[in-house]
Amino acid sequence: MPEIKGTIFDIRKFTFNDGPGVRITIFMKGCQLRCTWCHNPEGRDPGPTEVETESVNPDGTVQQFREVIGREITTDELLDIILSEKRLMQETGGGVTFSGGEPLTQPDFLVPILKQCREEGIHTTIDTNGYADREVFERVLPFTSLFLFDLKHTRHDKHLDFTAVGSKKILENLSFLLNCGARIWLRIPVVPGFNNSRHEMAEIIDVLKALPGEIEQVHLIPFRQTAADKYRKLGYENRMQHVPSMLPARLNPYKRMFRRAGFEVIIGG
Ligand code: SF4
Repeated sequence: MPEIKGTIFDIRKFTFNDGPGVRITIFMKGCQLRCTWCHNPEGRDPGPTEVETESVNPDGTVQQFREVIGREITTDELLDIILSEKRLMQETGGGVTFSGGEPLTQPDFLVPILKQCREEGIHTTIDTNGYADREVFERVLPFTSLFLFDLKHTRHDKHLDFTAVGSKKILENLSFLLNCGARIWLRIPVVPGFNNSRHEMAEIIDVLKALPGEIEQVHLIPFRQTAADKYRKLGYENRMQHVPSMLPARLNPYKRMFRRAGFEVIIGG
């Protein structure tokens, strides 16, 4: 396999929420969206990101230093890490998940790794915002066991206001994948002031019911206030800084709506 470099910012082993079984999750740099609630803003920039940070010494003095988030890695290096977990992944029905950031911003790096994983019998999941070009979805589709596909809002203007891109291309890509028979677990972040209402959930349900193919699961993910420190360190605007985390139980009415509409739905995931 030709050596190609990609940029990642984290590798987490023994993950449980990024697909079936026990998984290894690779967090890849670069994202086209700017979701106001993003938990991984350090993944937005395509290359390594330098930030000013500080630590407290044992004597109470504060030390400032530069921290680099993200690093280049070759396809071979990353495959070695993935393959080191092969036995555990296969024993638990798990696999590898490519997350981010947005993994489909690095298709030339991702596709050869997906191919090799497929040859090794490793289950592959792509956690995507759905905004890549169609040609990129066509390239990864033959080697992807499961898509965790984000659908945040169906309305173009609101999607644009809260994520910096509209919803049209994402919905078209979702429809394309379903038409091709791809396995989809749909992830809907429920965010106060954005889509946290019965009528907005009803709109999403109407759109989903009109799509071709079957969505295997719908995951409703409550907004969590967890990334304030990251925004501060990175110097990014944090529009959600005063919004409290949502209790998962708040999503029970939406769960019932999706269930009544015939979807298998869970809160979280
Ligand atoms: S798509 Fe995901 S990674 Fe990109 S900005 Fe939105 S929440 Fe963050």
